Amino acid sequence: MAIPPLDLKSEHAPIRDALMAALGGVMDSCAFCLGPAVETFEQAMADHCGTKHAIGVSSGTDALLVALMAKCIGPGDQVICPAFTFFATAGSIWRTGARPVFVDIEPDTYNIDPQKIEAAITEQTRAIMPVHLFGQCADMNAITDIARRHNLAIIEDAAQATGAKDHERPAGAIGDLGCLSFYPTKNLGGLGEGGMILTNDDDLARTCRYLRNHGQVDTYRHTMIGGNFRLHGFQGAVLNVKLQHADEYIASRRRLAARYIEKLGDLPITLPATAEGQFHTYNQFTLRIGDGRRDALSEHLKAKSIGNRIYYPLPLHLQPCFESLGYTEGDLPESERASKQVLSISIFPQMTDAQQDEVVAAVREFFG
Ligand SMILES: *Cc1c(COP(=O)(O)O)cnc(C)c1O
Repeated sequence: MAIPPLDLKSEHAPIRDALMAALGGVMDSCAFCLGPAVETFEQAMADHCGTKHAIGVSSGTDALLVALMAKCIGPGDQVICPAFTFFATAGSIWRTGARPVFVDIEPDTYNIDPQKIEAAITEQTRAIMPVHLFGQCADMNAITDIARRHNLAIIEDAAQATGAKDHERPAGAIGDLGCLSFYPTKNLGGLGEGGMILTNDDDLARTCRYLRNHGQVDTYRHTMIGGNFRLHGFQGAVLNVKLQHADEYIASRRRLAARYIEKLGDLPITLPATAEGQFHTYNQFTLRIGDGRRDALSEHLKAKSIGNRIYYPLPLHLQPCFESLGYTEGDLPESERASKQVLSISIFPQMTDAQQDEVVAAVREFFG
């Protein structure tokens, strides 16, 4: 039996009628860009995450960009972020004209190492952008402490961690601004692109709302330059339906993760670690193979049509587009080591035990 890395069809099948009705409602209302369905979803997410404001935008990437723009970050500024993350984290910093400053990660959680942040702070540093990678929050207590001492903003990249918690605080609701993605593969995924900014700050919220709509403060009156970063009505409607199942999806991911840990625990691989006080949501279930056989395991699983992916094979400080920043191999050893050793295996809310057993058997077979 082929096992996909994730299976969106199985996620949507049980709620297909509700999704179709939601899409039909938007079609009939003709509120395609923002509109009532988006407003309802924004309020529901603000309640769900415990923030004062939630601003729907066109993608997780655009959420990061708008959040940075709202903090007036631009040329001459520096923003600290981890090197081991999805490209959008640093890409959005670069697009504001600011410089991404890469910091290494903790080898066990794959999140930014707070102990290495202070050495990266300069006169130009304006913000820290921690990433909650694979569904687990970065160490926000330590990061908040550093940000306070140096008067820096915190913009959370919580794209992979909707529903995660750090000491009971929801991902995205801890920093000055938090950014979520509703890309279909995320913990809460739409039927297309979408994202959101969370904040408790009234001024920042207002600015984000202007920025997502070309900086328009009144009809055809612009006090700042934004863009078209509006969330589609269809996505708002669909996400209202899926939000009702979000906790159940995460519970399922956590149950499957516990089952993997139980069934793979004796193998010579490193399983995902949960740091103290963290509620991990396992957007990915990521193994670390330390003996140089990561690619061989990936090939072994591929030959059996068992889904697996490498997130991420090249850390951002070594990406060709960032060559001008002057980093070289060896600068961020934990990020580089992780990129050579990690392998994410199938996990999705509707994965059956039989499917999971097949993945387990194939991984066990590789190690003999
Ligand atoms: C997915 C993701 C993004 C971007 O979200 P999109 O909705 O795809 O634009 C940003 N950062 C991280 C860490 C992500 O995983």
